[in-house]
Amino acid sequence: MLISNSTSNITAFSGIDEQKTELFLRPFGWLAEDLEIDFHQMCHPELEMQILECCISNRQGTKLDRTFFWNLEIGKRTEYLLTLATLSNSSQINVNLRCSNLDCQKQMEITIPLLEIIRLQQQSENQTTEIAIASEKFSLRKPTGNDQRLWLKQHFLDEGSAILAMVQSLLVAEERSTFQQVSSQEQYWIDTLNQVMEEIDPIVNFNLQANCPYCGSENLQDFDLGAWALQQLYGVQQQLIVTIHRLAWHYHWSESEIFAIPPARRLRYLTLINREENYR
Ligand SMILES: [Zn+2]
Repeated sequence: MLISNSTSNITAFSGIDEQKTELFLRPFGWLAEDLEIDFHQMCHPELEMQILECCISNRQGTKLDRTFFWNLEIGKRTEYLLTLATLSNSSQINVNLRCSNLDCQKQMEITIPLLEIIRLQQQSENQTTEIAIASEKFSLRKPTGNDQRLWLKQHFLDEGSAILAMVQSLLVAEERSTFQQVSSQEQYWIDTLNQVMEEIDPIVNFNLQANCPYCGSENLQDFDLGAWALQQLYGVQQQLIVTIHRLAWHYHWSESEIFAIPPARRLRYLTLINREENYR
């Protein structure tokens, strides 16, 4: 995958037809439609789909059907979001982590190269997904946006019944009743499941591992890569508003006039405004 500040291209398999599709990615924060996205909406899968829909197109520049994004496995969707979120940052994920050693608690900066995350995701794509509970083995499919959408619509009595229903929907139909039976007899099946999900979906269930440079303690913390990507992209949207505000204020251009100017030239104007202000 080629990543740059201009349009990037990525190759993907759509979940439905398994056809190889070449996709093109444009940076978020360039067009007026990027301002329409509401980062405060409750449904995060929906928010993530809207961002990807804005920024991903096919070779001809045509936007993809929404179903393509809902059919993506969550890990793949997270990989695309991270690619978008790190376009302006040399494809690096920078995280501030507080040391978990109570006697230390110092802040440390951690950099994860995007390529490392893509490699993890690609390795997990070729894995067969099997879970063994008691003496039975089950085949699990990795969850997609469609699964998330269905789960969000359902009401569950408690966490246990929610997890059971979610797992059932990821199993092949013939294995569901045996799974229900085995899981009711095996007390620790959720622990086994969590372990398997971490292995099969490493970037969805990501663990950040770092040795503290101050006290040497080993830190192992859950880290939500999807939430990190959304936070970065929200920052990009806020920066776009600042850009429009400055150009409108300085040149008295309307929002649509500003969006008609290519992003690189908008930055040139901003540089000139900044230079003038510094000379005052
Ligand atoms: Zn420390």
